Amino acid sequence: MNNYHTHTYRCHHAFGTEEDYIQKAIEQQMEELGFSDHAPFPHHDYGLRMAYEELDDYLLTLDRLREQYQNRIRLLKGLEIEYYADCDSYYQRLLTEKGLDYLLLGAHSFVNAEGTFKNIFFAESTNDFLDYADNVCAAMQTGFFRCVAHPDLFFINDFPIDKHTEEACRRIIEEAKKQDMILEFNANGYRRIRQNYADGLRYPYPHRYFWKLAKQAGIRVIIGSDCHVPVHVCDHYVLTARQNALQWGLNVIDTLF
Ligand SMILES: [Zn+2]
Ligand SMILES: [Zn+2]
Repeated sequence: MNNYHTHTYRCHHAFGTEEDYIQKAIEQQMEELGFSDHAPFPHHDYGLRMAYEELDDYLLTLDRLREQYQNRIRLLKGLEIEYYADCDSYYQRLLTEKGLDYLLLGAHSFVNAEGTFKNIFFAESTNDFLDYADNVCAAMQTGFFRCVAHPDLFFINDFPIDKHTEEACRRIIEEAKKQDMILEFNANGYRRIRQNYADGLRYPYPHRYFWKLAKQAGIRVIIGSDCHVPVHVCDHYVLTARQNALQWGLNVIDTLF
């Protein structure tokens, strides 16, 4: 097993050092572990992210650990990051100057076409889903991102599935198909509470409706732990996610590269 969605204490809402996650991963006989802590931005603080001043230490620490553990596990340097259209040069710099192996698109927030800052955890209506989808699609088109984390995150909001919801799913899947983008089936959704939503009893995500379209389109799918605690790196939620993804007929791949 591999995992490319791993957080650390640096983002202020996860626990454990890089090394704690590595040791857990080795214990679980994982072959490759990619770190993707929540990225800072040089000029904005979106909260619950590592500080920009800490970025170099994060990267140096991973370089050091990569060497130290080279005979036991392969380590990759990544970041989970939002897409803002005015930050293209920053994404470029992370991938070149800073030497990151990959960027994982984590669209928790975005700026819509009207210039309004939106947090997708608190959508006001399913209209926001369309803006979310457009942000994800624009991000996919840039070529900066290796994979989209929890592309169906908007289902965390409790609205009946309507035309906008369907259209948002369709836009993301179509663009992913066009860009041959890998989408992440996120185990952290299963760590959240299963509850009654307008469309029935379910976990907030992964959502069946979305993944049915992904299946039809033959999208490549990777399982992501999205662990915020070292013991979660390959816990039973990850195994459940994998099992469900396979059961839903998805094209599950094991490695990001
Ligand atoms: Zn997080
Ligand atoms: Zn994450």
